[in-house]
Amino acid sequence: EAMITLRGLTKRYGETTAVRDLSLDVLPGRVTGFLGPNGAGKSTTMRMILGLDRPSAGEALICGRPYATLRNPLRRVGALLDAKAVHPARSARAHLLAMARSNGIPARRVGEVLDAVGLASVARRRVGTFSLGMSQRLGIAGALLGDPEVLLFDEPVNGLDPDGVRWVRELARSLAGEGRTVLVSSHLMSEMQLTADQLIVIGKGRLLADAPIADMLGGS
Ligand code: ADP
Ligand code: ADP
Repeated sequence: EAMITLRGLTKRYGETTAVRDLSLDVLPGRVTGFLGPNGAGKSTTMRMILGLDRPSAGEALICGRPYATLRNPLRRVGALLDAKAVHPARSARAHLLAMARSNGIPARRVGEVLDAVGLASVARRRVGTFSLGMSQRLGIAGALLGDPEVLLFDEPVNGLDPDGVRWVRELARSLAGEGRTVLVSSHLMSEMQLTADQLIVIGKGRLLADAPIADMLGGS
C-alpha cells in the first residue's frame, strides 16, 4: 500500500527539465532516502507532491489522491521544505499556533511539538533571530504538528550541529518505526546509509535506482 505514488512525474522550467518521467511508490513503515546531487530535482519533486508546483506531465498522489484534494492536508502530510517562508517577527510559538488554528489542530499540539524538537525554551523568541539549525527544528515542528502519517523532510540535517544531525536521524527512524511514511532527501550517501531503509537515487531529474539500501551497499 503505497502512501506516495509518482506516475510519469515531469517538471520543465523553460529549457530545463528539473524532473523527468519519475514513477515510483513510497511505502509506510520505513525511511525512504531520496538521494541526488544539488540540482537533481529532489526539492521540485517534493514541491509537486505537496501541490506547491504543478507537474508539466504525470502526477503525484498521496494516499491515492492529489494533495490539493486532501480534506485536512496537515493531518495527512507534514513537510520540512528548503526555504520555508516564516514571518520573521513572529515567535516560534505564534507561528505554530497560527498553523494549528488554520488547520483545525488543537492548540495543545504546539507545546507538544515544541518539546519534541527541543525549542520549548525559545518558544517566545522571534524566529528572525533563529540560527539555521533552530529554523530547521521549527520546520520539523511544523511538519509534526498535525500528527501526519506521511512526512517529507528536504535536506533536514542542513545547518544542524552533530547532536542535531543525530537527533534528526533518530526522529526519522522513530517515525518510521511507528508505521509512518518518511521521505528524507540528502545529497550525501553517508547520511542516507545511516538513516534510510529504502533508497531512491535521482540525477538530472531521472530515476537512477530504487532499492533497499542493503542491496546497494552489498554490491552483487
Ligand atoms: P535539488 O533539490 O535536487 O537540489 P531542485 O529540485 O531544487 O534540485 O532543482 C532541479 C533543477 O530545476 C535545477 O536545475 C534547478 O535549477 C531547476 N529549478 C528549480 N526550481 C526552478 C524554478 N523555479 N525556475 C527555474 N528552474 C528551477
Ligand atoms: P517520545 O518521548 O514520545 O519519543 P520526544 O519528545 O522524545 O517523544 O520526541 C521525539 C518523538 O516524537 C519521536 O519518538 C517521535 O516518534 C515522536 N512523534 C511521533 N509523531 C509525532 C508528532 N506528530 N509530533 C511530535 N512528536 C511525534
